[in-house]
Amino acid sequence: MALKAMLRTLDEPFARHTTLKLGGPAREWWLLESTAEIGQAVASSEADGVPFVIVGGGSNLVASDRGFAGRVLQVANRGIAIRGDEVTVAAGEPWDDVVGLCVDEGLAGLECLSGIPGTAGATPIQNVGAYGQEVADTIIAVDAFDRRVGHHVKLSPKECAFAYRDSALKHEARWVVTSVTFALERSRAASGLTYPELVKALGRSGEAPLADVRAKVIALRRTKGMVIDANDPESCSAGSFFTNPVLTFDELSRLEKRIETKPPCYAHGESWKVPAAWLIERAGFGKGYGGPRVGVSRKHALALVHYGGGTTSELLELARAIRDGVLARTGVTLQNEPVLLGESL
Ligand code: NAP
Repeated sequence: MALKAMLRTLDEPFARHTTLKLGGPAREWWLLESTAEIGQAVASSEADGVPFVIVGGGSNLVASDRGFAGRVLQVANRGIAIRGDEVTVAAGEPWDDVVGLCVDEGLAGLECLSGIPGTAGATPIQNVGAYGQEVADTIIAVDAFDRRVGHHVKLSPKECAFAYRDSALKHEARWVVTSVTFALERSRAASGLTYPELVKALGRSGEAPLADVRAKVIALRRTKGMVIDANDPESCSAGSFFTNPVLTFDELSRLEKRIETKPPCYAHGESWKVPAAWLIERAGFGKGYGGPRVGVSRKHALALVHYGGGTTSELLELARAIRDGVLARTGVTLQNEPVLLGESL
């Protein structure tokens, strides 16, 4: 496909493309609507020596108020192919549509990942997970354009090196995901449900109909402002702003001593996962802290919300205050979860 067929705009504000509704203009914005266009656009940007960034749904992105003096390549290829219990999804497909389709088709394995904003192509990058499922459980291949070798490649799960909310794709700006293939299970019921919050909402553990699981997960996420909804001001965010810290036994002991109480914690291999939201509240940044333009969500202390008329600078000032406050109070350094473009914490 000819490059000139791509939709390109100049001085396009990030604020129009991020769930936070923040961010200044990108000098060039290219919309890539096919897998071939993704490869061509990346290769030609490299050849032109133009700085470029890849974006998907803008749900995990904090862009500078200054914008970006380069080229934004927005992955927007579409298409879902189902062969038996295998589903191949183009990177630009809205993730929740994919989950909804699989639930309707009686394909189990993604239902706990309902209501998550963003595109399918973004899910392997941080190994998106929720309520006891993560995409690494079902991904069997990731198709990507490999910038190092200059052509399309197929990555195995092993090459992706999935870990907790992490993968090799996150650490090296080498691969641009073009599609993801999942091996699901032909079943109308989800199995292995143990996540306490979900089990409580369903009123049962183990098995439950896929559609019930999807409905309950979306309802739970709504109570936390984690479903994008024009009528819910708390949902104007980038989801969780910090990752949940994973501590060694010694680090956990030091934390307990310092705050003179036992924090909620969950075994994570040899280590311990502590909810970042709990640390944030403990450090004095309760739900509703801040405002009026940016603040801690009134529904979930882990989300930072833009209530309108604010700037990325204001949001990051709040994020720094929280990070520094949590460090001073607990000795734990929180890491931002969203990608920061043109900024650092
Ligand atoms: P939550 O349910 O309050 O949990 C907070 C933290 O505690 C998470 O790290 C969670 O682990 C852990 N946790 C809670 N109960 C647990 C249990 N019984 N056993 C082991 N670990 C437990 O979290 P939330 O912020 O409202 O989010 C709900 C779900 O969405 C969580 O599963 C969270 O991880 C997920 N989420 C994912 C992303 C992402 O993929 N980037 C972003 C935001 C939220 P897990 O993380 O292992 O669940």
